[in-house]
Amino acid sequence: MEKIARTRERLLHFTNLGRPILLSIVQDELIQTNWDAPLRSMDVARTVLTNHAWNISDERFPAVAVPPPAPAAAAPPAVPNYNDPTAYEAPVVLNVGDAGYEQNNVAFNDTVPIIKFIHKKADGSMHRSHPQIGLESLIGHVRSSADGRCFDADCGGKLWPREIEQALASPILAPSVTDEMRTLIGFYKQRFNQLRPAVGGKTQKRKTRRKIKTSILI
Ligand SMILES: [Zn+2]
Repeated sequence: MEKIARTRERLLHFTNLGRPILLSIVQDELIQTNWDAPLRSMDVARTVLTNHAWNISDERFPAVAVPPPAPAAAAPPAVPNYNDPTAYEAPVVLNVGDAGYEQNNVAFNDTVPIIKFIHKKADGSMHRSHPQIGLESLIGHVRSSADGRCFDADCGGKLWPREIEQALASPILAPSVTDEMRTLIGFYKQRFNQLRPAVGGKTQKRKTRRKIKTSILI
C-alpha cells in the first residue's frame, strides 16, 4: 500500500508540473519512489492509512487521452518483381481432409493446411511432386533462403515471390498470414529481385560457352 501511495503521490506531482517532462525521467523517478516507499517509517504508513492520504481520487488525474483512430493502412506499393510466369503454375492450397491432402511433409504435421507448388524443371517438364508444405514451414524457408531456390532439392527451380503471394492470398491461408510474414516476404522479394539476370547476361553466357568450346577444340 505504501508503494502505491508514494507512487501515486509522485505521479500527481509530475501531472501538476504543468510543463513537459521526459518520459524516461518520470519512469526512473516512479520506479525509485516505488522501491523507496517501504523504507519510510511505519508511522508515515500509519498516518497515510488513517488519513486515507493514499486515496487520491481518480478525478484528480487527467483523463487518459484516447488516441485518434489510425487511418486505414494504405495498400503497400506494388514492388516490381523478377517473375517468369512460364516457370511455374499457380500453387494449390489444400485444407486438412481435402482430396490430395497428405500433410505438411516438411514438418511432418498433418493438422495444418498445405501448399502444393508446381515448377518447371530444367528439361521443360512440370515438377508436380513437391513435398506438401505448410505456411509456417514455407515462411521458415523464405526467411533463410538466400538464393531463391525451391525448397525441394529434386526440383531445381526457383520459388517465385508471385506464387508465394498467390498461395497466401487463398481464402484457406489468408487469415493466418501475419504482418511479420508479409515483412519477411518483402525482404525475400528484395533479395529475389537481385537474382534477375543482368541485361546482356545471355550474350555473356554464350561467349563463355564459345570460349570453352574453343579451348576444348584446341
Ligand atoms: Zn520447386
